[in-house]
Amino acid sequence: MLSISRLNTTDNTFWSQLNTLLAWETVSDGVVIQTVRDIIHDVRLRGDVALVEYTNRFDRRAIQHIEDLRVPDIRLQQSLTTLEKNQRKALEKAAERIRAYHQRQLQDSWHYTEPDGTVLGQQITPLERVGIYVPGGKAAYPSSVLMNALPAKVAGVKEIIMVVPTPDNIMNNMVLAAAAIAGVDRVYSIGGAQAVAALAYGTMTIPKVDKIVGPGNIYVATAKSMVFGTVGIDMIAGPSEILIICDGQTDPDWIAMDLFSQAEHDEQAQSILLSPDAAFLDAVQDSMNNLLAQMPRADIIRTSIQNRGALIQVKDLAEAAEVANFVAPEHLELSVAEPQELVKKIRHAGAIFMGRYTAEALGDYCAGPNHVLPTSRTARFSSPLGVYDFQKRSSIIFCSEEGAHKLGQIATTLAQGEGLTAHARSAEYRVLQGMLEGMDK
Ligand code: NAD
Repeated sequence: MLSISRLNTTDNTFWSQLNTLLAWETVSDGVVIQTVRDIIHDVRLRGDVALVEYTNRFDRRAIQHIEDLRVPDIRLQQSLTTLEKNQRKALEKAAERIRAYHQRQLQDSWHYTEPDGTVLGQQITPLERVGIYVPGGKAAYPSSVLMNALPAKVAGVKEIIMVVPTPDNIMNNMVLAAAAIAGVDRVYSIGGAQAVAALAYGTMTIPKVDKIVGPGNIYVATAKSMVFGTVGIDMIAGPSEILIICDGQTDPDWIAMDLFSQAEHDEQAQSILLSPDAAFLDAVQDSMNNLLAQMPRADIIRTSIQNRGALIQVKDLAEAAEVANFVAPEHLELSVAEPQELVKKIRHAGAIFMGRYTAEALGDYCAGPNHVLPTSRTARFSSPLGVYDFQKRSSIIFCSEEGAHKLGQIATTLAQGEGLTAHARSAEYRVLQGMLEGMDK
């Protein structure tokens, strides 16, 4: 029997119970923090030598030369030709859809001209070199390669460096094929905090990048938080989450499996179901009990569901939306008759899966939107990984002579108020010049 928390919003202690259920410290373990700090320091100090040592130790490898950490380009191409046909087709189709979706996110430069000829605007430029972390300690994630590399490619990033740990020297063919399809420029078989440090600071072999994106375990997340500032990062990803709102009319097996699909990620993953229908919550619990035995990752699912899962009875769908907004889940399924109506009440969610047929798994792999999403309630203030994460904005100011004269008077007054004489004088020169030239005319 699978034990899962049952909550009810009519219970006086509901909100505090929910808070307890959601609590998850992003990077809290002092031992992990110290380990990661030491690794980063060491890679900065000893570069490639440290990188080889940590890779051999953590990934059980026996690398002698740093060059052996680079996956040869020919190997990437071979992965495509040796991949099973249906796998290659699935990767290519997914890539096509992800590319098409992300094309729509491209931002363009813009400007406008004021009556005196002053031009103001915003110039968009892609990042030059980015590092993509593809996790690989316990499982391989070809879909993560596509989801991280393709938006960068669409943005026009000049060089994409991918790192992926290769435990026991076993290279995943599908991961390499995904890199080839996405157009990754170089792949290194390194992972963990040492790979993040190498990308952030550069070594003799690994080039320093401008931004590091991609999910990973606690060592990777901690390292990303520590190098932030030296490089950009996308986000600090916590354990994966799903919250499902169901009106009670969907097949309970479908909902049970959607909850499992999140729980099978890892023991800390979170799966929550909200429904106004108590009998339906019972039915889903029965389904979970029946289906668990069929799951190869049953142990992980059981721990995840028992630690962090919940079936919550709500008054109605409007109240379910309120709870969902509080949780701000990474993935939100609206398994209801009229998802278009319910979605209007949703303000905070990484990705919203609408209707009974839209399993989260479709979005995870191939629908088109990105699967790198804000977790741990950060959807309150952040968004899915996208093309905009790989584009920068520069402000553009062009002052006509008349514009400089007008703005100069305002700027001078404000600069004097701040006691910044050089600022005031710098603006005044243009004002005076403008007045003198005006007199000449
Ligand atoms: P990983 O690549 O993140 O980590 C493996 C590395 O961790 C190793 O190479 C090693 O360097 C380091 N490491 C392991 N034990 C260590 C120790 N004791 N000391 C120092 N370093 C150590 O791979 P993983 O472990 O499989 O974790 C992947 C994570 O990414 C999972 O939590 C998974 O759920 C998550 N993930 C998230 C998404 C998403 O889109 N949100 C997608 C795929 C995976």
